Amino acid sequence: MIGICRCGPRHAASPGSGHAPHGQSNDRRWALSRLLGAGLAGVALMNAPRQASAGATRMAPLPSDEAFMRLAIAEAALADFPFGAVIVREGAVVSTGRNLGRTTNDPTAHGEMVAIRRFVASRPADELKGATLYTSGEPCPMCMSAILWCGLGRVVYAASIEELATKLGQIMLSSQAVADAAPFANIAITGGVLADEALALFHN
Ligand SMILES: [Zn+2]
Repeated sequence: MIGICRCGPRHAASPGSGHAPHGQSNDRRWALSRLLGAGLAGVALMNAPRQASAGATRMAPLPSDEAFMRLAIAEAALADFPFGAVIVREGAVVSTGRNLGRTTNDPTAHGEMVAIRRFVASRPADELKGATLYTSGEPCPMCMSAILWCGLGRVVYAASIEELATKLGQIMLSSQAVADAAPFANIAITGGVLADEALALFHN
């Protein structure tokens, strides 16, 4: 891990350890990185198509990703907070969701959660296995955990958690880190698809 830091140039590594915490807010992320060395490997492979790390693989965008992401962003434009998601199975949209936190008095009603709940309300949960979830914002740890529990095969997001954190509060744990903490996880992650369009919703 020497010489590798997820946290940018503000951080100077300490001699001997190769990596030292740089403030309380980053301690947990630092500790997680220490525990999950494979997670760092995953970050290093971000732009490589489907190279393995523990729990999750990074996957390059597919030609069809932008069209589905536009649907997720359209959901986000209608949401209480501008987050939207669609679930795609065998090339077809099978569920949609948008943040309904205020509407339903439910802080867990994130776009991804709403899309999953709508799907399982009418179809077998097993049909989510291998499906792709498109979301305008990188899944938070709650949503990413739900995605993993449901066995989805791929998640595609627009804006990253770090980008979203410039707009509103976020739990600073990446979808990759959550997946890498799940030994059973077998999911591909693609980020940055139409990120600027998703972030622009925060200015409306
Ligand atoms: Zn969420």
